[in-house]
Amino acid sequence: MARWQQEFSQAIMPSAPSHHVSGHDLWHWRQQAQIQAAQAALPKAELDWLLQAAGLDRLSLRLETFKQVDLRLNWSLAELEQRWQQRIQARVPVQYLAGEAPWRQFSLAVSPAVLIPRPETELLIDLAKTAPVTLRSGHWVDLGTGSGAIALGLADAFAEATIHAVDSSAAALQVAERNAQRLQLSVEFYCGSWFAPLAQLRGQLSAMLSNPPYIPHDMLAQLQPEVAEHEPHLALDGGLDGLDCIRQLVWQAPEFLVPGGLWLIELMTGQAPAVVQILEQQGDYRDLQVHRDLAGIERFVLAYRR
Ligand code: GLN
Repeated sequence: MARWQQEFSQAIMPSAPSHHVSGHDLWHWRQQAQIQAAQAALPKAELDWLLQAAGLDRLSLRLETFKQVDLRLNWSLAELEQRWQQRIQARVPVQYLAGEAPWRQFSLAVSPAVLIPRPETELLIDLAKTAPVTLRSGHWVDLGTGSGAIALGLADAFAEATIHAVDSSAAALQVAERNAQRLQLSVEFYCGSWFAPLAQLRGQLSAMLSNPPYIPHDMLAQLQPEVAEHEPHLALDGGLDGLDCIRQLVWQAPEFLVPGGLWLIELMTGQAPAVVQILEQQGDYRDLQVHRDLAGIERFVLAYRR
């Protein structure tokens, strides 16, 4: 197994930069790679993202001062080339190749076991902050935590709350736990399906958040290859109409939330009216709200348990 594949499966970054690389050789490599980026219609910035993960700093990349010195990098030039070819040829997302992704103020470890956290999902935390302060000291849960992004965002935003995070993938939970350790944030992790591992918290949750799989099954293959071929379908596939998991969250949550507890999810463009209808049919929710993301797309539905 190549080293980048090992790091893939474990979401680890090398501990200390240990590879000597001549700055001049790297400069030449980067010139070639920039041409390949243009040919593949990839932003040049992705190349520098990978180079930063290799250990170069942004300023020396910008000024090209690295050209004059011998460098110590996390990867050899051959390993860097291997990763870059994965980006160009196999369309592996640069976040997986770099081993991390920025999200809110964090840098999160990611591997192909987890969905790459998206910028629009950052807003879930800001929406959670609009909940009444009385909910803040209770138990909060992130269902389908993946990299742990939402749970960690909550742990950071609500110091008095107890944060729980569930995922049905043990491999994803390893990544999430690693992120919690890296950020020194406290989250209780559980392996299982939605509320199943949380039986002891029945009737006690102040809030439930989720970015569940919501892509309609037949749309998956049409997504860009970075998503369709490399991100976990477990985190994307929402069944025939994309709403399978959301329905479960609507129907299961009332049993777990305190009266007045917050129910908040992310969804896809066009799904909000259907989700509002499901919440209304279920009948245990009040104060339904639909919120848009920064692109103006209806992306979040928020409700409170009666
Ligand atoms: N936002 C992701 C995408 O656009 C989908 C995430 C999800 O299904 N929860 O691919």
